[in-house]
Amino acid sequence: MNHFCQQASRLASDKLERRLSLNESLRLNIHCLICSSCRHYTAALRLLHVTLRKTHEAEPPQKLPAATRQQIIRQCKEQPE
Ligand SMILES: [Zn+2]
Repeated sequence: MNHFCQQASRLASDKLERRLSLNESLRLNIHCLICSSCRHYTAALRLLHVTLRKTHEAEPPQKLPAATRQQIIRQCKEQPE
């Protein structure tokens, strides 16, 4: 995961917690246009967020690819301050 991907995944999870600034939103969207893994990650994160809200499950949905689930679990454990 390169620097831009780290930034994008941080913004993607921030987006679920707060409203991103125009600048942040543009950075995330533009990055997702050129980076398919971040595009999938962002979509999976949003899906997970919605699913967690609905079901209060602790685990990401089993339908997600294993690598994506691992990424999400890691992300959840590394909550930014
Ligand atoms: Zn990326």
